Amino acid sequence: MWHVWPHMRSGDDYIRRLRDGRAIYLDGERVKDVTRHPAFAEPVRRVADIYDRARAAADDPAVTFVGPDGRRRSNMWLVPRSADDLAARRRVHRFWAEPTYGLMGRTPDHVACVLTAFASWRQLFDRAGREFGDRVVRFYERARDDDLYVAYAIVPPQIDRSAPAHRHPEPFLHPGVVRETDAGIVVRGSHAIATSVTMADWLFVSYITPLVPGDEAYAVSFVLPVDAEGLRLYPRRPYATMATSVYDYPLSSRFDEVDTTVVFDDVFVPWEQVFIDRNVELVNAQFHETPSHATANFQSLVRFGVKLEFLAGLAMKLAEVQGGDAEAGTQATLGGDIATFCATFDALNHAAERFPLVTDGVARPHPQYIYAGMSLQRRVIVDLLRTLRELAGGAFQNVPSSEANFLADETREHTTRYFQSRAAGARDRIKLVKLIWDFVGTEFGGRHLQYEMFYSASQTVVNRRMFRSYDWNRAKAMVDRCLGEY
Ligand SMILES: Cc1cc2nc3c(=O)[nH]c(=O)nc-3n(C[C@H](O)[C@H](O)[C@H](O)COP(=O)(O)OP(=O)(O)OC[C@H]3O[C@@H](n4cnc5c(N)ncnc54)[C@H](O)[C@@H]3O)c2cc1C
Repeated sequence: MWHVWPHMRSGDDYIRRLRDGRAIYLDGERVKDVTRHPAFAEPVRRVADIYDRARAAADDPAVTFVGPDGRRRSNMWLVPRSADDLAARRRVHRFWAEPTYGLMGRTPDHVACVLTAFASWRQLFDRAGREFGDRVVRFYERARDDDLYVAYAIVPPQIDRSAPAHRHPEPFLHPGVVRETDAGIVVRGSHAIATSVTMADWLFVSYITPLVPGDEAYAVSFVLPVDAEGLRLYPRRPYATMATSVYDYPLSSRFDEVDTTVVFDDVFVPWEQVFIDRNVELVNAQFHETPSHATANFQSLVRFGVKLEFLAGLAMKLAEVQGGDAEAGTQATLGGDIATFCATFDALNHAAERFPLVTDGVARPHPQYIYAGMSLQRRVIVDLLRTLRELAGGAFQNVPSSEANFLADETREHTTRYFQSRAAGARDRIKLVKLIWDFVGTEFGGRHLQYEMFYSASQTVVNRRMFRSYDWNRAKAMVDRCLGEY
């Protein structure tokens, strides 16, 4: 039975629904309540806060649209049909990214992009029978009406890159259908990473890595509630549990979306939740033939743009605290190595939105600008973090061991005196320096570099997508015209 919310869901509703007994295992023990466990409680709270903000903005046409039943819905569920609709989607992606400074990439609006695009392109799923397209549309409507938080797992573990799943040392190391019943399919296996699944309502499962003939048992696309029987979640070490205080680890303690390995321990999936059933061609086509890949990565790049603004602010404030912001060399670094890329990604996002590809009445962000952004992103993030480290010099190590040094009688006087700068008192200077260190150098910071480099395929794969989305004919025609002139 679908719940009909008067408006959009509240943070409390979101938290209450996470108390469903999901099977999360940390250090060999089952987590009793993800909303109260110190590893997850704060990120869950952050997401709940944004649901409350979205609910408070439920009547704001900047981030909501009027649905078919006259009720307002978040723009994350808006099927874009024009550049203006994509602008509406960009606004809601910023709405979700700004409260987390672009540090939570898999907020509810990410997979909402995939489900909205799938529902707008049901014709792909209909190829295996209209019942599949019907299921996709019904689940999209349910997720939209219930404002569901859906995560996804679409990349298998690195068992053997030289062999397809059906030729692995043993079957169903990757997720596949071990058997079917009249009521549905039973899935066994594991997917490598599902970021934020521990705090999501549902999980979308399929493959974005190409499958080959023979992999039919693995060629599925389906959704599952996160408390499904047999679904087991194994998070990597959460960072919040390692943070000694918010002052010392302001990002690790609050914005960890906890990447998690998912295991399907013979999980039953009812047919109503199966979008593709053992069809290699459709699984390989679902992300790129539909607008889902371009639309989901538009969200990723808008979020990345917010993160870059945050990074620029960190760099500028560091230069100010050091008293170097008026130096020509520092300004050249801030302008040339940081602001340039902030403006470039802003321009790419606007171009992707302003010049959409409209096919069958659905507008997708222009792939040429999306893949240019993704290809650049993986490279420039390394340079940007190096620039921040260069600006800092030894600042990250010239810090007191913890906030306690400011509080203890024994250490307060020296800590206040010797950790200050002309521009800032010791407490404020160290607060900023520790924030920047958590952004670039801690395990949280290291994970974020890996995220920007791999959240959606490796550099090689992205570069080949850029190759396929660039207009080479236009470029060649110009050369032909030149060659023809003499
Ligand atoms: C922080 C983080 C969060 C993530 N969150 C999610 C999530 O929520 N959901 C999800 O489904 N996935 C998630 N992922 C997984 C991500 O999509 C994959 O890591 C990414 O697609 C790369 O795949 P891979 O890890 O298998 O590495 P590979 O694809 O195996 O790449 C590893 C290296 O091998 C090279 N390589 C790969 N294939 C070849 C080849 N044929 N020839 C030569 N070189 C090759 C690549 O260039 C790369 O340098 C996440 C990853 C990270 C790092």
